[in-house]
Amino acid sequence: MSDHFVQFLADESATVAFGNQLASLVAQGVVIYLYGDLGAGKTTLTRGIVQGFGHQGKVKSPTYTLVEPYELPEVNIYHFDLYRLADPEELEFMGIRDYFDDSAVCILEWPSKGEGVIPPADLDITLKYIGEAREVTVAARTQRGIDIVLKLQGNA
Ligand code: ADP
Ligand code: MG
Repeated sequence: MSDHFVQFLADESATVAFGNQLASLVAQGVVIYLYGDLGAGKTTLTRGIVQGFGHQGKVKSPTYTLVEPYELPEVNIYHFDLYRLADPEELEFMGIRDYFDDSAVCILEWPSKGEGVIPPADLDITLKYIGEAREVTVAARTQRGIDIVLKLQGNA
């Protein structure tokens, strides 16, 4: 078995459904980095995860606010989009360390912009265009990540 998992996502609802599935496997303290071009589906996948934890409302892209918090019954989820971040130090000024406590789930779009300031990922998730559809790759970076990937492989 490899330490990554790949799945074809035929349409938007498949991306959301995969996010729902991830929510059932992700526990407090997990850090997820999301990679992929603009429009690849990073925010859509986040919506699936956040709604999978019971959030009923919208999930909007925090492109301008940098972070959108979701305080849910089981867990606090912080969704970051660092696309517009000019300097990782800005994250220090906004008190980013408070977000990365062990009881939260953190999901970060454009993590490369926060290099040196954000904590390491348990999972690197990459979304790729396949024509009009998408493909998702989930790669484990920690033991906690490996446990999640093994469960994805078991469910496939
Ligand atoms: P990103 O956050 O990566 O910039 P978004 O999630 O904001 O991307 O936008 C992704 C776009 O692609 C949305 O219009 C969504 O409806 C669409 N989409 C998401 N998943 C799929 C899929 N599996 N196949 C085709 N289109 C998808
Ligand atoms: Mg996005």
